[in-house]
Amino acid sequence: MTLERELVDIVGRDQVLTDPGLRAPYESDWTRRWSGSARAVVRPADTGQVAAVLRSCATYGAPVVTQGGNTGLVGGSVPRCTGQVVLSTARLQRLQSGDHAVVAGAGVTIGRLQVHARAIGLAYGVDLASRDTATVGGTVATDAGGIRVVRYGRTRAQVRGLEVVLADGSLLSDLERPGGADAGPDLLGLFVGSEGAFGVVTAARLRLVPRPPPGTTVLVGCPDVDAARALVPADGVRAAELMTGDGIDLVCRTTGLRRPLRRTWPVVLLLETDQVPDLPDDADAVVDARVWELRERHTEAIATLGVVHKLDVALPLHQLATFLADLPALVAPHRAVLFGHLAVGGLHVNVVGPAAGDETVDRAVLERVAALGGSIAAEHGFGIAKSGLMHLVRSREEIDLLRRVKHALDPAGQLNPGVLVP
Ligand SMILES: Cc1cc2nc3c(=O)[nH]c(=O)nc-3n(C[C@H](O)[C@H](O)[C@H](O)COP(=O)(O)OP(=O)(O)OC[C@H]3O[C@@H](n4cnc5c(N)ncnc54)[C@H](O)[C@@H]3O)c2cc1C
Repeated sequence: MTLERELVDIVGRDQVLTDPGLRAPYESDWTRRWSGSARAVVRPADTGQVAAVLRSCATYGAPVVTQGGNTGLVGGSVPRCTGQVVLSTARLQRLQSGDHAVVAGAGVTIGRLQVHARAIGLAYGVDLASRDTATVGGTVATDAGGIRVVRYGRTRAQVRGLEVVLADGSLLSDLERPGGADAGPDLLGLFVGSEGAFGVVTAARLRLVPRPPPGTTVLVGCPDVDAARALVPADGVRAAELMTGDGIDLVCRTTGLRRPLRRTWPVVLLLETDQVPDLPDDADAVVDARVWELRERHTEAIATLGVVHKLDVALPLHQLATFLADLPALVAPHRAVLFGHLAVGGLHVNVVGPAAGDETVDRAVLERVAALGGSIAAEHGFGIAKSGLMHLVRSREEIDLLRRVKHALDPAGQLNPGVLVP
C-alpha cells in the first residue's frame, strides 16, 4: 500500500490529484512569491474524510498544507518542501442557518455565505475584496479582518463554535453547544488565527448580524492622513478606507475606471456611514457607492506592476503620519502603493521592485512598524513570510509557549511546517 492508494480509497480517484497539470493551481500562491511541488492534492468531501486523510498522512510521515481559497498573501497555503500533501477544503460545502447564526463548511466562500445571509434578511460581518474565493476555513485560520472591522470586528468576533480535526485525526467540536462554552479556557478559540498549524478547521458556527439599511458612501481627497482621520465621525462608521491619489490613478489606468476627484491627493478617504457625514464646503468629494470599486480593485491593479511584496501592518493611529513620512526612504529605490483600513490603523504596504526572494525592504519596513508600536502581521497572518520576524512583536516567552502548544497538538510537526511557528 502507498499513501496515494490509501488517499484514493478514502476520497475516490478523482479527488486525488497527482498529475502536474492538475496540481499546478494549488502549488502557487496568489502573490506568485511562494510555490512548491505537492506530492498530491487531496479533496475530502466531509469531516470523516478529512480525519482519515490526516491519519494516513501521519502514518506515512507526509506533511500536510491545508488550502482554502488560496488567497492568503503570506505563503501559508502552498507546499514549500518535498513530499507535502495539499489538503483542499473546496468540497466542504455544508451551510445551515440557525438562530442568528450559520454553520458553514470550511470550503464555503465568504461571498456565498453573504448571499445566504442576505436571503434570510441578515448579513455576515466580515467582508473583504477576496470574498468570492476566500473561504470560511481560511478566514477563521487567519482571523481575517477586512472592510467592516470597524463595525463588526474581525473573524474571531463572529465565531460561535468550531469543528477541528487534529494532525492525528482526532475530532474536536463545540458546534453542538450554541449556548457557548462553560467556564475555563476557550480551547477551540486557539484555532482562530492558527494558520493551519494547529489543526484543520472543517466547519464553523458564525454569528449573523441584522442587515443594515443603505448608508452613504463618500470618496474625499485629503492633504494628509491626519486630515483624513479628522473626517471619520465617532459614530455610525461602517467603513473608513485609506488610499492614495497615486494608487487611485494606477487603478484607473489599469482598469479603465474614471478618475473620480479633481486632483491627485496624497491621501484619499473612502467613508461609508449611517448618516451623511460632515465635509468642508470646498471638499474635493464624490458621494457614490460605486467608488468602492476603486478600493476593491487595488490589489488587482498593483499586481500588474510585477511581483509585489505585500506587507500587511497596523499602526497606532497617532503613529500613522510618522510611518507614512518614513516609508519612501524605507523602500527606496523602490515604490510602495498603499491602501488600508484607516479606522483601525491597518495598512497594506505593497512594495514593487525587489526580487521575489529579496527581503531587505520587507525587513526594514517591518522593523520600523514594530519600533512604532505597531503590528507586523495585522490581518493576513505570519505565514511563511513573517514567522521568522515574530520576535519583533512577541516576547521570547510567548514564542516558546507557541512552540509548546504546537508540539502538544501536532508533535510530529505534520501540519503546515514553517507557517506561523518560527
Ligand atoms: C484581493 C484580496 C483582498 C484581500 N483583502 C483582505 C482583507 O481586507 N482582509 C484580510 O484579512 N485579508 C485579505 N486578503 C487575504 C486573504 O483573502 C485572507 O487571508 C483570507 O482569510 C484567506 O482565506 P483563504 O480561504 O483564501 O485561505 P488560504 O489562502 O487558502 O489559506 C490561508 C491560511 O489559512 C490556512 N487554512 C486555510 N483553510 C484552512 C482550514 N480549513 N483549516 C485550517 N487552516 C486553514 C492555510 O493553511 C494558510 O495558512 C485579501 C486577499 C486578496 C487576494
